[in-house]
Amino acid sequence: MDCPVCKNEPTIVLELNEIEIDYCLSCNGIWLDTGELELLLEDNTETKIFLNSFTLDNKTKEKKLRCPICNKKMDKVQVVGGKEIRIDKCKYNHGL
Ligand SMILES: [Zn+2]
Ligand SMILES: [Zn+2]
Repeated sequence: MDCPVCKNEPTIVLELNEIEIDYCLSCNGIWLDTGELELLLEDNTETKIFLNSFTLDNKTKEKKLRCPICNKKMDKVQVVGGKEIRIDKCKYNHGL
């Protein structure tokens, strides 16, 4: 898979707790297919709280990225509370 941020930079596959994640060496970005985040964070309640804390961030000037699977522009979401994390999430639930 090519990194959605660096375009022609291929990602490497890392294995974490038997889950394969795509990792980009150039920008240190990771791509998670839908469901993989839930698998990574074992506690389901915590995962749900985490996923529900996503809010759409329309004010960011960051360029929208395209989903590597459907090639549609992804939403910028921000995780409320906790650390400042910005996530690009596919509207069609291909991953983040
Ligand atoms: Zn990259
Ligand atoms: Zn997609």
